[in-house]
Amino acid sequence: MEQNQNNWLLTSWISNEGASRIFIELKFTLRDCNSLPGGLGTCKETFNMYYFESDDEDGRNIKENQYIKIDTIAADESFTELDLGDRVMKLNTEVRDVGPLTKKGFYLAFQDVGACIALVSVRVYYKKCPSVIRNLARFPDTITGADSSQLLEVSGVCVNHSVTDEAPKMHCSAEGEWLVPIGKCLCKAGYEEKNNTCQVCRPGFFKASPHSPSCSKCPPHSYTLDEASTSCLCEEHYFRKESDPPTMACTRPPSAPRSAISNVNETSVFLEWIPPADTGGRKDVSYYIACKKCNSHSGLCEACGGHVRYLPQQTGLKNTSVMMVDLLAHTNYTFEIEAVNGVSDQNPGARQFVSVNVTTNQAAPSPVSSVKKGKITKNSISLSWQEPDRPNGIILEYEIKYFEKDQEMSYTIIKSKETTITADGLKPGSAYVFQIRARTAAGYGGFSRRFDVPCLENSSGQEWEPVAASSDQSQIPIIVVSVTVGVILLAVVIGFLLSGRRCGYSKAKQDPEEEKMHFHNVRTYIDPHTYEDPNQAVHEFAKEIEASCITIERVIGAGEFGEVCSGRLKLQGKRELPVAIKTLKVGYTEKQRRDFLGEASIMGQFDHPNIIHLEGVVTKSKPVMIVTEYMENGSLDTFLKKNDGQFTVIQLVGMLRGIASGMKYLSDMGYVHRDLAARNILINSNLVCKVSDFGLSRVLEDDPEAAYTTRGGKIPIRWTAPEAIAFRKFTSASDVWSYGIVMWEVMSYGERPYWEMTNQDVIKAVEEGYRLPSPMDCPAALYQLMLDCWQKDRNSRPKFDEIVSMLDKLIRNPSSLKTLVNASSRVSNLLVEHSPVGSGAYRSVGEWLEAIKMGRYTEIFMENGYSSMDAVAQVTLEDLRRLGVTLVGHQKKIMNSLQEMKVQLVNGMVPL
Ligand code: AMP
Repeated sequence: MEQNQNNWLLTSWISNEGASRIFIELKFTLRDCNSLPGGLGTCKETFNMYYFESDDEDGRNIKENQYIKIDTIAADESFTELDLGDRVMKLNTEVRDVGPLTKKGFYLAFQDVGACIALVSVRVYYKKCPSVIRNLARFPDTITGADSSQLLEVSGVCVNHSVTDEAPKMHCSAEGEWLVPIGKCLCKAGYEEKNNTCQVCRPGFFKASPHSPSCSKCPPHSYTLDEASTSCLCEEHYFRKESDPPTMACTRPPSAPRSAISNVNETSVFLEWIPPADTGGRKDVSYYIACKKCNSHSGLCEACGGHVRYLPQQTGLKNTSVMMVDLLAHTNYTFEIEAVNGVSDQNPGARQFVSVNVTTNQAAPSPVSSVKKGKITKNSISLSWQEPDRPNGIILEYEIKYFEKDQEMSYTIIKSKETTITADGLKPGSAYVFQIRARTAAGYGGFSRRFDVPCLENSSGQEWEPVAASSDQSQIPIIVVSVTVGVILLAVVIGFLLSGRRCGYSKAKQDPEEEKMHFHNVRTYIDPHTYEDPNQAVHEFAKEIEASCITIERVIGAGEFGEVCSGRLKLQGKRELPVAIKTLKVGYTEKQRRDFLGEASIMGQFDHPNIIHLEGVVTKSKPVMIVTEYMENGSLDTFLKKNDGQFTVIQLVGMLRGIASGMKYLSDMGYVHRDLAARNILINSNLVCKVSDFGLSRVLEDDPEAAYTTRGGKIPIRWTAPEAIAFRKFTSASDVWSYGIVMWEVMSYGERPYWEMTNQDVIKAVEEGYRLPSPMDCPAALYQLMLDCWQKDRNSRPKFDEIVSMLDKLIRNPSSLKTLVNASSRVSNLLVEHSPVGSGAYRSVGEWLEAIKMGRYTEIFMENGYSSMDAVAQVTLEDLRRLGVTLVGHQKKIMNSLQEMKVQLVNGMVPL
């Protein structure tokens, strides 16, 4: 009850054991000032905690002002006279952290300035990530970092008998948890993973590469007698080809082909057989044909030589048949058909074949192919030629047939034993055609091709080209020309069509976006900074309240400028109200006072059920106070964390609807919030959410560097749109981005967006197109709305009025919230690549059309048989026109969305 209390309690020196962030847990009881007889007096309900760092215990003479303040500690529960009587102990527990520490130890000090307090216990501790083996890498005991949001990257060391696959790393969070394992070690060849160790492969087992999952039994016909084998040896007579994988059985050459049969046609032989009974365990069996020519008297054989042709080929035959042509007539041949496989050459002695003996038939001579013009007179022509390539016997004579060109039916035949003739008695100036054939004992061979003598006056000694051949060739250029013309024509037509289409698309692209005009009948927000005298602004927008109308009851939190308390406001002629009272701490600067009251100047301009309501300010007496309506459940993020999983989806959507409605009001007034986050939403006992915290925005604008700091937690990187981070483009569209993050926070009951990722990593990932994955059990429609809010192009994000009506629609039609985001497409702890239309999210055509704001066409789609997403995938622009989607903008929207879904299906979702 005495004035000017200043009582200090000091700990002894505490070593920090190498930790750079320490935690202090305080347990204390505190007397409710109201319950003291004689009124408040100088009674306080808080005390202060300080620390002083030093390397050794020299600190007995530290002055008060050398201590650094950790925090003002307020009690959640204070006790009263009654509690004493009832022997109830209302113990408070508060935890604070301090860091980064730079010396070996520190002292803690507690300052009491007039509270009735009992400090029951002080627990000082630090956090570490305990040594662990993960992905076969050992991570040591690691003391957490100095910063509360810092992740320490720790490299792991591969356990015995393992090798690095990708450098193993993990992150030690400030909470002492290991997060985000990256990379791994693999048991080296000959070892396998068991219980986080690498165990040797037993004899009879092997592991060929670190990437094989475990030791495998030796494959058939192989063995190993050693431990840690990386491969197995082949049994005798079994082999492995170099390219055979170690997991493949050892194999041997195949047995001989079976049941070979032959079919002789004059000088051609066709052979056929069936595959060997034993392929040696391989699939790569092929056949080789050896040909021998044998003397029927001596029985001696020799290799056939190069004149024999094999169809399709002599070696590497995949089929079980072959044809030999151009053999000699009347000759004995032996063909050996050998089966070979990939290991035949490793055991040449084991080759096996089946032989077939054949004798070719008598055969007529082959056609004469080379003819030369000799002397040509007005009415005679001399010709000479060579014996056919394969006479197949002794040539007895040649037959020469000739006729006047185009008069084929009246021809003349001459016979000759020589290889020259002269045909005379021919018509001068006429063209003639000649054909020659040879005769042996086996009969006539085929006629040669036609040889053309264009005109009898011509004379030369050159070889002739056969007529047919020349006319064939003369057609080639014609075909080539016509094909070329055809291709060019086709190209022109296709090019025309394509360019026409492209023109169509690019024209469509140039179509101006449908401009929406908004007509508002609301006031516009006035920036208090535009007032020369900030006090004038406060009094313009906020009522002055007399301090005597306010009863402060208890401290409920710590604001930026001082304590936040709850209490009651009784204005004359009005009901008493529960209120929250923000106080400006003593010793403030003029700027602090301006900034503190700035929030009231902003808040006072708003009047909306989802914006925290300002009752008034106290500026004429001290302490300076801002009085607002009281929100029983405090800030939304803490409230959701405390009540994890306790609400229905409709309740959560109701909260979101309220926030969106408040934001719509703010954006209609032209106010950009810049710090929309669940922590800045307050929630009352009826679960009504209200937007609050109109203070931070200025700080953000005034300090460009501040956006990039990782310390202090004041700069909401995780909540802020990329264009606002990159070039401070804060608009209602960037507020929409933040709103999307709030939706995510709400649907995940206060989870921290992007978990423990660093701010820099968040900026990078978002820039690269990654987005937060859907919260668990989140309706697809809501997640789609979040993705829409996180469109890179800020003009493509929905407006707050669209968000409100979308949420209203969902609330009116709760079955639309039944479709949850597919569990498999939810990637926990990872971000998903963003695409404006998540095809995975759509279960129905209606949902899809709604999401691209084309819901008006749902009925038409359904009536025309496009009732599933599969059917919709086939829709063409033609179809859309047929269905009556005539607006170019709408056609574009639908077709683009379909295209995106298809691309997404091809790419899949890519985890970070
Ligand atoms: P602020 O400085 O506005 O962020 O407020 C600090 C904390 O005080 C908040 O996180 C809330 O827990 C609490 N608080 C502020 N205003 C209110 C209010 N009107 N009703 C209830 N609690 C409040």
